[in-house]
Amino acid sequence: MARNFPLERYRNIGIIAHIDAGKTTTTERILFYTGKTYRIGSVDDGTTVTDWMAQERERGITIVSAAVSAEWKGYQINVIDTPGHIDFTAEVQRSLRVLDGGVVVFDAVQGVEPQSETVWRQADRYGVPRICFVNKMDRVGASYDRTIESIRHRLGANPLPMQIPIGSEAGFRGAVDLLTMQAIYWEDEQGREPRFAEIPDELREEAETRRGELVEKIAENDDDLIVKYLEGETITVDELKAALRKAVIAYKASPVFCGSSLRNKGVQPVLDAVIDYLPSPVDIPPARGIRPSDDSEVECPTDDDAPLAALVFKIVTDPYVGRLAYFRVYSGKVVQGEMVYNSVKGRRERIGRLLRMYADRREDVTEVLAGDIGAVLGLKESFTGDTLCLEKSPVVLENITFPEPVISVA
Ligand code: GDP
Repeated sequence: MARNFPLERYRNIGIIAHIDAGKTTTTERILFYTGKTYRIGSVDDGTTVTDWMAQERERGITIVSAAVSAEWKGYQINVIDTPGHIDFTAEVQRSLRVLDGGVVVFDAVQGVEPQSETVWRQADRYGVPRICFVNKMDRVGASYDRTIESIRHRLGANPLPMQIPIGSEAGFRGAVDLLTMQAIYWEDEQGREPRFAEIPDELREEAETRRGELVEKIAENDDDLIVKYLEGETITVDELKAALRKAVIAYKASPVFCGSSLRNKGVQPVLDAVIDYLPSPVDIPPARGIRPSDDSEVECPTDDDAPLAALVFKIVTDPYVGRLAYFRVYSGKVVQGEMVYNSVKGRRERIGRLLRMYADRREDVTEVLAGDIGAVLGLKESFTGDTLCLEKSPVVLENITFPEPVISVA
């Protein structure tokens, strides 16, 4: 099977957050907006979120899955589950390693919490470019600006406010998009398409000031744009997006959006931002592995024709199909029915049924190509952290080194 989309249109992302910020709710909403159910439901009979959620719960499907594929505007978004407790464990390292980018969720009341600092440092450590979502804007005491300030000060990051909220707390109903200078309203809480409108008069001046600041910040990271900016030339929205994308991938900036996932407000712009600003597998440097025979370094390019290098990042026992091994392919391809070599165990195994998991269905596929995520049934000897490769060109991808334990003396 060829790819559903060209590789440039893949995003392997994780929703990362401290406990309670709304990771689960945001992930559910992302799957809702990208899922088939939404398109069918909204077009035909106006199925509500509540109905959809109830159905999902009943069927007990994949919101808890290790990786779920979704489609948004002609892009494939693979959402990889990250552990709720982010600490220095192999599990965390592994889950961050298979992502190419992250959406970091903050609670608009709490701002940066101690646990969000850990999350952020982990993402720094494993080189995960990220965008931010200030969630729970409907709560009493919510503040987008204060949360952004705490991102700047406590995390030492360069957060770029992309919006201005419209309404606050229970009255939160929309946002001004500072790039396109239009207002977006989420009015019915049923998760349907937002309504676009003119910026309300009382916010126009602030929007213009803030847009100026945003354009300056984006331009200052980009050699071409800064010249245009200083010469007072018009910079288009597409040019701004392209420059911001480069800055995000180079860890120089993180765009910040706001919303309330519980109330179905603000999630679509985050999905657009995943496409606009987070890297595809071809935008990131190739993974590096170790050749077991002599410990030399091997580069694993994102290329279907290169020798196979895939990392098993999670084993899940699925009640319907059995033991599923989730893997990410860095180089080459995993093909149904073919033999692969587990370089960590030194064993050969045959690839059984290959699956791609969606929120509402599983799809059988015949191969999974470089840069993509898949799940395989029937591997008996392979565990998380193992590398699947070719026996004639073995490579070990994961070489976990743990930091020195911090010992505190009372
Ligand atoms: P997780 O621990 O990060 O996965 O967080 P959950 O998604 O489970 O959310 C934690 C709690 O916050 C739950 O009670 C949610 O209903 C609530 N919550 C999530 N998003 C919002 C939101 O946008 N507004 C409000 N008021 N509550 C929210």
